[in-house]
Amino acid sequence: MKACQLIAHGQPGRFELRELQPAPLAPNEVMVRVRACGLNRLDLWLEEACLPMPLQLPRTPGGEVAGEIYACGPGVSGWRLGDRVAVQSNLTCGQCEYCRCGEDSFCLKGELLGVQRDGGFAEFVPVPARALVLLPREVSFETAAALTLAGSTAMHMLTDRTKVRAGDWVLVIGAASGVGSATIQIAKGLGARVIATGSTVTKRELALRLGAEVAVDSSAADWPSEVRRLTGKRGVDLAVEHVGGPLLARVLECLARGGTVVTCGATAGRDVTLPLWPFFVKQQRLVGSYGRNRADLVATLDWVADGRLKPVVDRIFPLMETPAAFAALRSRQVLGKLLIRP
Ligand SMILES: [Zn+2]
Repeated sequence: MKACQLIAHGQPGRFELRELQPAPLAPNEVMVRVRACGLNRLDLWLEEACLPMPLQLPRTPGGEVAGEIYACGPGVSGWRLGDRVAVQSNLTCGQCEYCRCGEDSFCLKGELLGVQRDGGFAEFVPVPARALVLLPREVSFETAAALTLAGSTAMHMLTDRTKVRAGDWVLVIGAASGVGSATIQIAKGLGARVIATGSTVTKRELALRLGAEVAVDSSAADWPSEVRRLTGKRGVDLAVEHVGGPLLARVLECLARGGTVVTCGATAGRDVTLPLWPFFVKQQRLVGSYGRNRADLVATLDWVADGRLKPVVDRIFPLMETPAAFAALRSRQVLGKLLIRP
């Protein structure tokens, strides 16, 4: 099988399109024929060796896999060859105290597909059967690969880690990202009034098309005061962000009393300084969110199937152009998702 492997870290890293012999399937694993695989910030972190875990090369990146079951290993039941599936990219153990109660995003032995084991920028990928979710008939492989990771990350933030009530003001940072574009739609679908930020006119237009009431220019120095003005100086009930760094303190400026910031990333910096006085006086919350539970992925695909959630796909690259897709994502000139189609 062909696989695009990272063979040296860097910015850019070095990739090679290789012909590999698939290993025999382990018990309870299936071989998925990859039809589409989404590219994520996580893949860039792997490329740049910016992950707080030991990394081994060569590695086939790609965690947002959609495809068909090509072969079943020993012990697999309930799945048939040809079943159309999405793959939950945080591979969980199924046995720890968290997995046993359906809170698998807290798994003590989680493993990242495409980081700690070979992922989906390849013609085939072996995965544990417990990571599979059946694709609803209405959902294409491309749509699944655009929303399996990004959409379910947003679903986890908005329905598990926090709760959105109808009429809430929700601020979405980075409207044009995979997570941002899904967050706008899900928050709107839950009845919220959405304010989104975008650094260019095109990104802000996308936010409005996806259902944001207002799109704020995040390149303006005083954008938090614009958010406060839009909410009658009250501030937002919930802010959803994945940027971190100095931006996090600015996001706190946008919060109402009792408001919550939920964060699922730190692309602009992992160490931040926060002004604690207004934070506790206004009784605000800062909530971490990581990955998703299986139920979030199922819910995401249900939303997609009935049209409440739509993918935003910027471009689809063939497998041999995977390095160009990494470069495009790094350039930040992307609207929605980049996909690889082997
Ligand atoms: Zn577990």
